[in-house]
Amino acid sequence: MNKEEIKHSHSMREIVERYGFHVNRAGFIHCPFHKGDKGASLKIYPDSFHCFGCGTNGDIFTFVQLIDHVDFKEAFQSLGGTYEKPTFQSKLAIYRSQKKAEQRRRGEEKLRRKRELNNVLIDVYRDYMNKSEPFSEVWCDCCNALQYQLYLHEILNREEVRK
Ligand SMILES: [Zn+2]
Repeated sequence: MNKEEIKHSHSMREIVERYGFHVNRAGFIHCPFHKGDKGASLKIYPDSFHCFGCGTNGDIFTFVQLIDHVDFKEAFQSLGGTYEKPTFQSKLAIYRSQKKAEQRRRGEEKLRRKRELNNVLIDVYRDYMNKSEPFSEVWCDCCNALQYQLYLHEILNREEVRK
């Protein structure tokens, strides 16, 4: 698990209770970080804590660090965190997925440009046909060209970007 996954799977309350603290109705515990906290001045929030007596505050990792006198790495690991060493395989996988994403982006861009041009040409040929005499040479040329663009239009709008 990474830091965020741990935070999502453990509430602050769960962690303090794991250490034997009783959270009162108002959501406070007796602060273990300053002496003589008779009034219970450490407030437990869903994902953090704050002591109104001594000002100590933090999240579940901070709490474990302070209680167990360990550094972040140890607190992280004791809460189920794992560090994944980047291997050659994982680096290669990252490189490949980045490359694939880049290719997909380029493919989409290319398709977008083709569609744009296609739409422009359809308008242009339609316009020419409207302006030219029906069945004249220009009209026939435009009609043919338009048929082709309409055919292309259908393909372009059906085609998914090749992965
Ligand atoms: Zn305190």
